Amino acid sequence: MKILVLNSGSSSIKFQLLDTVERTVMCKGLVERVGLADAIFNYQPAGGEKSKQILPIADHTAGIKLVLDTITSPERGVIASLDELGAVGHRIVHGGEKIQRSVLLDEESLALIDECTPLAPLHNPANLMGVDAMQKLLPQVPNVGVFDTAFHATMPKSAFVFALDYAYYEKHGIRRFGFHGTSHQYVALRAAEILGIPLEDFNGVTCHLGNGVSLTAVKGGKSMDTTLGFGTCCGVPMGTRSGDVDPAALMHLIDELGMTSRQVCDLIYKGSGLKGISGVSHDMRDLEEAAAKGHERAELALEIFAHATRKYIAALATSLGDRVDAVVFTAGIGENGPEIRERICRGLGFMGVRIDPERNRVRGKEAVISPEDAPVKVMVVPTNEELMIALDTEAVVTASRA
Ligand code: AMP
Repeated sequence: MKILVLNSGSSSIKFQLLDTVERTVMCKGLVERVGLADAIFNYQPAGGEKSKQILPIADHTAGIKLVLDTITSPERGVIASLDELGAVGHRIVHGGEKIQRSVLLDEESLALIDECTPLAPLHNPANLMGVDAMQKLLPQVPNVGVFDTAFHATMPKSAFVFALDYAYYEKHGIRRFGFHGTSHQYVALRAAEILGIPLEDFNGVTCHLGNGVSLTAVKGGKSMDTTLGFGTCCGVPMGTRSGDVDPAALMHLIDELGMTSRQVCDLIYKGSGLKGISGVSHDMRDLEEAAAKGHERAELALEIFAHATRKYIAALATSLGDRVDAVVFTAGIGENGPEIRERICRGLGFMGVRIDPERNRVRGKEAVISPEDAPVKVMVVPTNEELMIALDTEAVVTASRA
């Protein structure tokens, strides 16, 4: 099936047209600065030249119309007609507690997504603008929502209820949701395929290490626990986000240092993590370069990042029962950072996690990087959220027609 995958932001629309049979990308692109007279339309057909146009794009509907016109144009298009389009898959950030899987976007599910807006105020409304535009432009083509949170819907209560007074969960829905679900789902699926294990039997810890970081315990192909929570700031320190901080320390900043909740929020989301510790950069490449030249705080940032990641790999393994098949690295740092992968796995030998230095030289490619005889496979699997969205979209549409 040919599926258009849309990731609509407040002023941008990222898109890919995928063929789910071949698992290939037919074309991709990005509309930027939506709403402005000098918006940018980036487009690349598979095997073809990249192009960039600057033109006025009034809103999401105009941006998506441009995408549809381009993918069907005789000069640069990749399909003859929009009739070839089987469905549109939309990346949606928050499905809250009620949406637990990818769903057909109808009046009822759209209302549920809207209800989740307070949980993702920057993302859900923008995601919905893309859905609205598609419904106007191609009302006959089904739209499917694929959620960052949905993969984690299988977590047991023991993993998702915070140990606050239970009333805050019951009355106010304060709980761990988890994010990056589409990425964790995809790399778990690929790791199982590569190892020749049915997904329902696959046990592993998936490590999404990018500017945002989360690790997930995947047991029998399902999420059992994850490091991100109610928001996207806990767990392992990230580019500019703090990761875990004792809440008492944050209360101290408010009560004793007189900081406002907005200032604390800015600190933990934008002024912390690798950037905050090192004072150098949020970017792993810059930190490795600075640390190699003897920059002490860059070295400390690397060590804190590796320590926290290592600690969570071991902690999450406790959710897997008695067998860990794999530890899987993905996203910018996980896919491209042999040094940091090595640093993380140093010290995990006690649980059978070891790295082969030769095999670990890989960047951006699927690989098993543990020694042949290691009990736990350490793997690199580049994430592909668009393909996962397309595969899920196809499954939902096919099931709805059955
Ligand atoms: P993402 O959010 O998935 O795009 O990942 C961004 C992160 O990946 C940044 O911290 C980059 O420094 C990191 N990254 C990208 N390429 C490399 C590389 N070759 N070595 C180490 N880190 C990298």
